[in-house]
Amino acid sequence: MIRLVEVRLAEGTQKLVSEVLDSGHLVQGPLVRRFESEVCDLTGTDHAVAVSSGTVALVAALEALGIGPGDEVVSTPWTFAATLNAILERGARARLVDIRPDDFTLDVDALLSAVGPSTTAVLPVHLYGQPADMPAILGLAQRRDLAVIEDAAQAHGAAIHGQAVGSLGTAGCFSFYATKNVTTGEGGVVTTNDGNVADRLRTLRNQGMRQRYGYEMPGHNYRMTDICAAIGVAEMGELAARTERRRANAARLTEGLAGIPGLTTPGEQPGRRHVFHQYTVRIGAGARLGRDALIDELTVRGIEAAAYYPQALHDYACYRDHPRVVTEPVPQTEQAAREVLSLPVHPWLTEPDLDQIVTTVRELLG
Ligand SMILES: *Cc1c(COP(=O)(O)O)cnc(C)c1O
Repeated sequence: MIRLVEVRLAEGTQKLVSEVLDSGHLVQGPLVRRFESEVCDLTGTDHAVAVSSGTVALVAALEALGIGPGDEVVSTPWTFAATLNAILERGARARLVDIRPDDFTLDVDALLSAVGPSTTAVLPVHLYGQPADMPAILGLAQRRDLAVIEDAAQAHGAAIHGQAVGSLGTAGCFSFYATKNVTTGEGGVVTTNDGNVADRLRTLRNQGMRQRYGYEMPGHNYRMTDICAAIGVAEMGELAARTERRRANAARLTEGLAGIPGLTTPGEQPGRRHVFHQYTVRIGAGARLGRDALIDELTVRGIEAAAYYPQALHDYACYRDHPRVVTEPVPQTEQAAREVLSLPVHPWLTEPDLDQIVTTVRELLG
């Protein structure tokens, strides 16, 4: 089976983890600081604050920016539930707007018409590894005085005009969950260039303390362990090479899948660096098989494929009926939910794997 996801930890992981275990310093120690500095290097930000997950990174970033009850945060329904759950956990209202058909990220025109008097933040998602249209989003955010929190959970090392995601908005939120492009097992990081935001984050993650028992605000336990950070430090050394392999695999697939009726390959928007957390095609009305049938046929032939995502968030009863979720008309999101299909693109695909994916899709749809 050619899998959609393969988790292979970096060489050197065991040694670094053993050193942590031997040191007896298990939580938020020297490895967490090293890991944070690696993330600063990746994003070019002044600060990186490690926390226990990507979801926690989003919640903590929203809290550090003062976003809570009475605030409205604009995002999209075309994302993983964590994006929306974080807004709801803060007690804020979520207004979900449509995506662009070409890159699956937040549509700035939809954002413009959705911003109202209680909107205080926008939460774009760099979905599948491609940056959202940050120049347009930042321009609008500045005019309307909105905070911008980037959900970069799928986009480690992605960039727009040479500037890394996570460094563009007020804060950037990364996930280091096991299946992301780089992992700590469970983990997250908030990046920012704002020293005050970083300081609030560091205080909030450790029960509101800067000094032991010096509580300054009601806080949380959002800390990362040094065991996780050790995995992350080893992993970060591999990220650049892995990303190049993902990009090369994507280019191979796009070349091989060109010209198949009804199939649209993912584009890289001008000036943007896509890191292909997912390689997501559309299976449109003109295709010989429907999307779900194609997934089944690929699986039978030893190629794992899946719809990321099978349903948009506003389509689930728990969000549709939620008093703090407001969804604008989202025709592009609804079309994406019908059409998307992700194919394996991970760094450990071999040449024969790539050939087999191309040949099989061609056989089924050509
Ligand atoms: C994975 C993911 C998250 C959440 O990260 P966790 O580390 O799993 O909490 C948030 N947003 C998006 C878009 C994700 O893919």
